[in-house]
Amino acid sequence: MTSQYNRLTPEEEMVIVQKGTERPFSGKYYRNRENGTYHCRRCDAPLFRSTDKFESGTGWPSFDDAIPGAVTQVPDADGRRTEIVCANCGGHLGHVFFNEGLTSKNVRHCVNSVSLDFQPEATMPQATTRTAVFGGGCFWGVEYHFSRVKGVLDVKSGYTGGVTPNPTYQQVCSGRTGHAEAVEVTYDPAVVAYETLARLFFEIHDPTQVNRQGPDIGTQYRSAVFYADDEQKRVAERLIGELQAKGYRVATEVKPASTFWEAEGYHQDYYDKTGHQPYCHIYTKRF
Ligand SMILES: [Zn+2]
Repeated sequence: MTSQYNRLTPEEEMVIVQKGTERPFSGKYYRNRENGTYHCRRCDAPLFRSTDKFESGTGWPSFDDAIPGAVTQVPDADGRRTEIVCANCGGHLGHVFFNEGLTSKNVRHCVNSVSLDFQPEATMPQATTRTAVFGGGCFWGVEYHFSRVKGVLDVKSGYTGGVTPNPTYQQVCSGRTGHAEAVEVTYDPAVVAYETLARLFFEIHDPTQVNRQGPDIGTQYRSAVFYADDEQKRVAERLIGELQAKGYRVATEVKPASTFWEAEGYHQDYYDKTGHQPYCHIYTKRF
C-alpha cells in the first residue's frame, strides 16, 4: 500500500512521518480562504472542508471540525496534547485542542500546511448559452427574424411538440405527426434576455390565428412556445396575459420543450440563401 502514497519532499517527510511541526505563519494554507477541500498530502484522503476553517491567529491552518471519520485522535507522545493523524494513512497532521472558546464548536484542529493538499471547489461550468423554442408558422420567416437579433448565436428550423421521431418535412406537412414547425434559438443570456426573444416572437407572427399562419394552414403552423424551464414559462404566460389585456385573443399554446428535430438542410437559412424576404412574417408592434 505504501507504494501508492505520494512521494514526499524531505520537508513533508519531516512533518508527516517524523511528526515535526512547520514554523507558524510559514505554511501555504494558514491564510487560505478559498472554497474547497483539504486532502492528505500523502494519501489524498479528504480531511477538512474550507467551511470549517477559521482564523485562529496561531499561524497554522485551523479547523473546528473534520470530515467525519477522516481524522484520528491519538494521545501525543508528550503526554499532554492530542495528536491528529490521517485516518487512512496515519500521516501526522498536527494536534487538536478543545475548550479554547475560539468557535462555537470549541474545537481547533491545528494542522500543518505541509500535511495538506488543498483542492479548490470545482466551479460548476456555467452554461453560457441557452435555447428558446418557438413555433410561429412557417419556420423560414421566424428563423429570418430571430437570426437578426444581437445575442442570438444560432437559429435552427425544425419540428417539435409532436410524436413522430425524426420527421420529414413531408410527414409534418401531412399534419399527422403532431409536430409544429418551430425554431430553436441559441442565445447568450448575457446579451439578450429570453423576454426580448419572446416579445419579438409575438410580434413577428400573429398569435391570434388558430392552427394557421397567413396562407399556411394546418396544426403544424400553430402558434406555440416550447419552454425550457419555469422561468421561460412564466415569461411567456405573462406576455400572453399582456396581449390578452390589450384585447388579443391569443391562441399560442405554452408547452414544455421536447425533442427538437432539426429540419432538412435545405430549410435552414432559407431566406438568407434565397435572398428573398419573408412573405408571412412581418414585424408588427403589439406590446
Ligand atoms: Zn493520509
